[in-house]
Amino acid sequence: MDGSPDTATADIEGYVPFPDDRIRRYVDEGHWRGLTFHAVVDRVADESPSRRAVIGPTRELSYGELAANSRRLAGAFRDELGLRTDDLVTLQLPNCVEFAEAFLACSRLGVVPALVLPRHREQELRHIVDLTESRAVVTVGDRYDLGFDYVDLVDGIVDDYDHLDARIAITADESEPPTGWHDLAAMRERGDETVGTDVNPCNPGLFMLSGGTSGLPKAIPRTHNDYVYLWEHIATEMGVDADWTLVAGLPVPHSFAFGYVFGAALWAGATVAVEPRLKPDPLIGLVDRVDGDVITLIPKQLIDFLEAGDDATLSTLRVVCSGGQKVPPDLVRRVADRWGAGFCNVFGMGEGAQVISRPDDPLEVQATTVGRPIGPGDELRILDEEGQPVPQGDLGELVVRGPGVFTGYLRNDAANEKSFDDEGWFYTGDVFSRRADGNHEVWGRLDDTINRAGETVYAPAIEDVLVEHPKITKAAVVGIPDETLGERIGAVVELRAGVDSLALSEVTAFFEDRGLAVFRRPERLLVVETLPETDVGKIDRNAAEGLFERTTAE
Ligand code: AMP
Repeated sequence: MDGSPDTATADIEGYVPFPDDRIRRYVDEGHWRGLTFHAVVDRVADESPSRRAVIGPTRELSYGELAANSRRLAGAFRDELGLRTDDLVTLQLPNCVEFAEAFLACSRLGVVPALVLPRHREQELRHIVDLTESRAVVTVGDRYDLGFDYVDLVDGIVDDYDHLDARIAITADESEPPTGWHDLAAMRERGDETVGTDVNPCNPGLFMLSGGTSGLPKAIPRTHNDYVYLWEHIATEMGVDADWTLVAGLPVPHSFAFGYVFGAALWAGATVAVEPRLKPDPLIGLVDRVDGDVITLIPKQLIDFLEAGDDATLSTLRVVCSGGQKVPPDLVRRVADRWGAGFCNVFGMGEGAQVISRPDDPLEVQATTVGRPIGPGDELRILDEEGQPVPQGDLGELVVRGPGVFTGYLRNDAANEKSFDDEGWFYTGDVFSRRADGNHEVWGRLDDTINRAGETVYAPAIEDVLVEHPKITKAAVVGIPDETLGERIGAVVELRAGVDSLALSEVTAFFEDRGLAVFRRPERLLVVETLPETDVGKIDRNAAEGLFERTTAE
């Protein structure tokens, strides 16, 4: 499509498009460049085809190869599967080169993939296939050993959905695809390279899945334009250079690595490095092998990395991105000490809002705040319970709108009613404050607040203190219902290697030493081997709360 289209044309039932006046404004103000995902890659492929685009465990591709492979795969998707613009499909892939090929093939056809995470299982897959009425599922066969049979998972559900016509697997070089399946590599080899370019960047280019510690994921439609806006500004603000290699420490189908590694690299013509196993050893090995410049990790992984490597490990890193849940300030300082890399403290979500500290911000800003919004078009408000802006410094709910924020969950009127107002502002459910210097502090989700005898306590702030205790490595703080006080503070903790016990009295003494008010001290303590995790590996507070119900804590 020539020029920058200024209206959404997607014919997808239950999709909430960007309104025309906002599209026109974003195009006029230069926030939306009218680029599809594949156009971003083709720009680099046309100028520097031999530049390295993706390095995986067994294959690597230049930009020229990535462009050509995704074109042929798109041809095969169209000719062999009959996929067309506005068809929805499901991708459940680990971090691998084939993700980039399949994702871009969809983009070229205007087919919209829902990005299911590798950790999702039957319930989530069924829900997404059903919600999106997916026509095809792309998943991993025997090419990567992930200790789980994804083919079997899909085979177990396929007969229940009339719309699910095609199953496509990534198989090992010497293998045949499973019965009834298509082989992605074979399709990529034989597909017709001539696919049109008539894809409207104002339309959805993917569905990110909402995280969530309870209930099933919601599908978050994201347009090409709105994600490319984020890619551009993430790359710019992190200072990504075309010579850099960005390493995905998290699943690429999740918004963190999708924006801060995959997209930022493609925007800058840099290299994405991926490894399906997201454990410290293979990831550290990958960073060392490719001389990684950037990595994205959630705080839990950062802790593991600090414990696993010596000072020489990861010495090539220029930027470390962490977030997805609150990064304890002490952890940021330890990372800066160890690697001397710039730190991006990232507040982000699949719905779009991105607020980050920059790699060259003072350490104090990186450690204690999430900095400033990513792009020049972002609109942010911090509102009180009556919907009024709070005075600077006060706490309130973060409410966002802009060229990089979605416009409504797919086929979910109830959630949209609850989360959006009439002017298109999205109520995030996160508690924020803005400092006088313009940097933002995160306090947790509205429902992470503990109300103890009328005092509001923010769980992440208490976790920050707990992980500074010399015996504790990870912590989840939860409210425990209490007849007299309303709620009491419970702490579930993982101990550092070599430590085998911790008493509540030691925690109390530590909090007392730090001068924390009595109502902010944990009153119940549970020591666990491993804290429960969400599908993307974040510490799962809801599940931690459940542990208290099932166990006798101290
Ligand atoms: P998801 O889209 O599943 O990654 O979840 C997004 C949510 O993670 C946000 O709404 C926040 O509650 C939380 N989150 C993300 N980044 C941070 C951060 N840096 N600090 C605190 N919470 C965060």
